[in-house]
Amino acid sequence: MLELISHVVRISARRDRTEINAAMVDALMDMFSPRELVIYRCYAGKFRTVVYACAGHGEHGPYLRNAYLPDRRFCNPIERDALLNQCRRERSSVIDFLPDGSHRIVFPVMRMDEPIYLIDLQLSDEFSSDQRVALMGLIEYFGNHIALLDYGEADTLTGLASRKTFDKHLFELLGQAASDALVGGEQSRARRSSTGSGNHWLAVCDIDHFKSINDNHGHLMGDEVLIMLAQVMRHAFRFDDQLFRFGGEEFIALLQPTDQASAQMTLERFRSEVEKTVFSRVGHVTVSVGFSRLMPNDTPTDVIDRADEALYYAKRHGRNRVDCYEALIEAGSIEAKEIAKGEVELF
Ligand code: GH3
Ligand code: MG
Ligand code: MG
Repeated sequence: MLELISHVVRISARRDRTEINAAMVDALMDMFSPRELVIYRCYAGKFRTVVYACAGHGEHGPYLRNAYLPDRRFCNPIERDALLNQCRRERSSVIDFLPDGSHRIVFPVMRMDEPIYLIDLQLSDEFSSDQRVALMGLIEYFGNHIALLDYGEADTLTGLASRKTFDKHLFELLGQAASDALVGGEQSRARRSSTGSGNHWLAVCDIDHFKSINDNHGHLMGDEVLIMLAQVMRHAFRFDDQLFRFGGEEFIALLQPTDQASAQMTLERFRSEVEKTVFSRVGHVTVSVGFSRLMPNDTPTDVIDRADEALYYAKRHGRNRVDCYEALIEAGSIEAKEIAKGEVELF
C-alpha cells in the first residue's frame, strides 16, 4: 500500500511524458516484477493504427524513448501483434496464457473510445488477485494523469495541440537536431537510416480571407470552419507528423524527416483536401502554406520566420498554394534572410 502511494506520488510530480513513462516503468517493475513490460503509445489513424514502444523493460533491462518524437524503428502497425490488436478491438484488458506457465496481459488506457496507450505485461502465474486490483488502480491513475496533461496541452476549440505545446515540441526537436549534429556518429546515422533520409520540416498554414468568412457568416461559423479544418488536417498527415493550432486561423505542422519533394507533396495533398471540402454553410475555403527545413542551430524563431516568409510569398502570389522557403531562395524569388547560422559560431 505504502509502496503504491509512493509510486503514485512520484508519477504525479512529473509533467513530461517521457519522464512519466519512466516513473510508470519503475512502479510496474518494482511492484509486480513482470518478466517483460512495454508501454505502447497508440496512434489511431483513419485507415490504420500504429503502436510505438515508448518505454519498457526487456531482456536487456529498462529502456526509455522520447515520448514526444516517435522513433519509426519502434513503431509498428497494431496488426503485427494479435494480442494488442485484440485489446484495441475489445477496448478492454485481454490475456494470453503462454506455454511456460506465465501469462501476458494487456491493459488499454482509453480516450474517447480509442486506446491511447496499451500496457503490456508478462507475469508469472503467482500473481494474486490483490496484486491485480493494485495493478488496475495504478494503470487507471496513469490514464487520469495523462488525461489531465492532454487537456492542458490541447487547444480548446479544435482539440489540436496548443501554441504552448508547440513551443515545447519544437524545443525538443531542435534539441535533438543539435545533438545529432554534435554526435554526428553512429547514433545519428542509425537514427537517420531509421527515419529515412531528410530533415524535419515546419509548415505554417493560414486560412485565406478568413476575415471575410467571419464578416459574411458570423464569428460562430468562423469557429466551425476552424474545427472542420483541424479535422481535415488530422486526416491529411501521417500519424507521427505533429499538428498545432498556432493562434487565430493559423496552424502549424511539424513533419517527420523526409525530403523536400515529399514534404511538398504532403502539404499539397492537405491544401487540395481543404479546397475539396465543403465547410457547411460557408462552402469552399482555401489555405496558403509556407514551409522550411529545420536546421540544427535554429532557434524556434528562425525556422518560424523562414516558413512565414514562404507563407507571405504564397499570399502575395495568389493564395491557395504551398511554397517552400529553400526552393524560393534557390529560384531567386526571395532573398535569403541572413547568413546560415550553421556556418557561424555565435558564442
Ligand atoms: P489572408 O488571406 O491574407 O490570410 O486574409 P485573412 O482575412 O485571413 O487575414 P487576417 O490574418 O488579417 O485575418 C484573420 C482573422 O481571423 C482576424 C480575426 O478576426 C479572425 N480570427 C482570429 N482568431 C479567430 C477565432 O478564434 N475565431 C474566429 N471566428 N475568427 C478568428
Ligand atoms: Mg492570419
Ligand atoms: Mg488568413
